[in-house]
Amino acid sequence: MAASELLKHLEEFGEIVKPRQPLAAHTVFKVGGAAEVLVQPRTPAELANVVRRCFERKLPMRVLGGGCNILVRDEGVPGVIVRLNEPAFAQVTVTGQRVHAGSGVTLRALISETARHGLAGLETLVGTVGTVGGALRHNAGDRSGEIGHFVRRVEIMDTSGRTQARERDDLQFSYRTSNLDDPVILAGEFELERDSESAIVKRMRKAWIQRKARQPFSFQAAGRIFKNPRGLSAAALIEQAGLVGTRVGGAVVSDRDANFIIAEPNASVRDILRLIDLVRARVQERFQVELELEISIW
Ligand SMILES: Cc1cc2nc3c(=O)[nH]c(=O)nc-3n(C[C@H](O)[C@H](O)[C@H](O)COP(=O)(O)OP(=O)(O)OC[C@H]3O[C@@H](n4cnc5c(N)ncnc54)[C@H](O)[C@@H]3O)c2cc1C
Repeated sequence: MAASELLKHLEEFGEIVKPRQPLAAHTVFKVGGAAEVLVQPRTPAELANVVRRCFERKLPMRVLGGGCNILVRDEGVPGVIVRLNEPAFAQVTVTGQRVHAGSGVTLRALISETARHGLAGLETLVGTVGTVGGALRHNAGDRSGEIGHFVRRVEIMDTSGRTQARERDDLQFSYRTSNLDDPVILAGEFELERDSESAIVKRMRKAWIQRKARQPFSFQAAGRIFKNPRGLSAAALIEQAGLVGTRVGGAVVSDRDANFIIAEPNASVRDILRLIDLVRARVQERFQVELELEISIW
């Protein structure tokens, strides 16, 4: 469907709808093409109308979070991209040991807000970038903990634009995945433990130092590429295949953590995709292990 055709279906939503919007600035790799149509709703009611319209008219729709787990192809993304970056989707409310966070809240903001309230648990995720929405969908975390562990309830929006709550018993979180396949994740409710702010901040600092030593944070554009195969480390396999420092154009396998690809300022999406293919092929050849992508390619 051409952008103009798509726009006709969304005409009544006015200024929140923009055709051919570049997405590079909204993703961690800072490269790639445009959204055919980008919609940035200001309120849940606006979002509900947009979601309903997209599903009624069968318009392809995806939600963009912090763009930390997405690589956008040069050709761009067909259909409607919804971005929940307005304040209405980025509220944090603390009630006792329960924390309600909108899907647009960054993990960084959530972690510092909970620490400030003397609520412990999420500090183990320090350094994991992105938003609550993306983190819930992928059950973000590492060996020290995963976000799913703290979730009590998730609010989602269904295809007719209705808000529904999914309770803990209905939620499944496992390694880098969840059963949250609803069109939109609106918010998460977390239950945390009480602790002193200073103890939490101390653990946070320690976790941050360890992470900084392991991951290539000093680069403007770097993304984590593969899931760890069962019982194995993707980074270790890539390293043992002799791929650290391997380069295609401006894309390089990181020497900090070989599961990261760094995109230098001159890197293109093609460079990154070719490097991903090369790494996969070499690891397959050397260890007969098929690396599965953690990052989504749009
Ligand atoms: C430097 C760096 C370090 C990282 N470290 C870790 C780590 O330690 N552990 C880890 O697990 N990951 C890590 N990642 C990957 C990334 O941080 C996580 O996957 C994060 O959860 C992505 O969140 P996001 O908001 O950026 O989602 P996006 O990348 O924007 O989206 C990811 C997916 O979630 C969907 N999505 C996002 N928001 C919503 C929503 N509101 N409703 C419905 N669907 C939604 C998108 O459609 C897409 O399919 C790292 C990435 C980088 C760049």
